[in-house]
Parts: sequence; C-alpha cells; structure tokens
Amino acid sequence: MTIDDTIRQMVRQRANFLCEYCHSPERIATNRFTVDHIIPKSLGGSNDSDNLAKASRRCNERRYNFVAGFDRETQTVVTPD
Ligand SMILES: [Zn+2]
Repeated sequence: MTIDDTIRQMVRQRANFLCEYCHSPERIATNRFTVDHIIPKSLGGSNDSDNLAKASRRCNERRYNFVAGFDRETQTVVTPD
C-alpha cells in the first residue's frame, strides 16, 4: 500500500525537510528522501503519520537496524516479533 501524498507532505514538513534519523537536510541530498515506516508494514505498522518518519536514502536502506535492538547480554540483534 502506498502512503497518501498529503500524509507524505505532512511528514516532510514535520521533519523540517531533514532526515529524522541522521538529520541531514534533504536539499543537499543526491537522492530524494523517502517516507519510512517506523514499525514496518510486515510487523503490523500502519500508514498513519505517527508511524511514518522522513528518512534519507541511506537511513531508509538501513531501516532494519532502527527497529531491531541490540541485546548487550546475549550480544545478538533482537527484532520485535
Ligand atoms: Zn538519514
């Protein structure tokens, strides 16, 4: 399912046109930023603006790392499943 253009624009403005993960500005980016699901659709995340974050291409490709947590005790990456 695609994200509604109105919501997409709202997320971009809310983020001040910065990547919400690394805070790099969209205007100097070579690739247009994307709107990312904080909780991935595959984990039941919605298309609601609360679940969306503006992300640079680089951060979007690394999204997995933001939803997964690193467990210091077991030294493993854990996912919310
Ligand atoms: Zn970024």
